Amino acid sequence: MSTPAPPGHPGRPAPGAPCPCGWGEPFEDCCGRYLAGADAPTAEALMRSRYTAFALGDVAHLLRTWDPATRPRELELDPQVRWRRLVVVATSGGGPFDDTGTVAFEAHHRREGRRGVQVEDSRFARSAGRWVYVGPDADRLA
Ligand SMILES: [Zn+2]
Repeated sequence: MSTPAPPGHPGRPAPGAPCPCGWGEPFEDCCGRYLAGADAPTAEALMRSRYTAFALGDVAHLLRTWDPATRPRELELDPQVRWRRLVVVATSGGGPFDDTGTVAFEAHHRREGRRGVQVEDSRFARSAGRWVYVGPDADRLA
């Protein structure tokens, strides 16, 4: 690790350390491949890698995997937020033979010692063969 991580972010996990997304595999065998530029095979795999990118402060991965139509021009992560745990609640579509998919998840975090949770149904679509994040499912926003 030659470049220091942004403040509040751990950078990259140590070799063999479990992936932040909670799948149970070492980081390099899980989301690490996608953060390094490999295409995620499913919407859920992409969603997990985006959670991991939030946890590690990898803004480049977040922007690269965002639908160009909805992608913000720039993205600043809150350095006070520590992402602690991801729970994938449900998925629909998003497989190798689908063009769209939805992943419902809970992302648990702490900010200045207080617990919080982000709940979202994320929409994904295949763009030029790659899965990209489109945005939260508007139908489910309260
Ligand atoms: Zn992972």
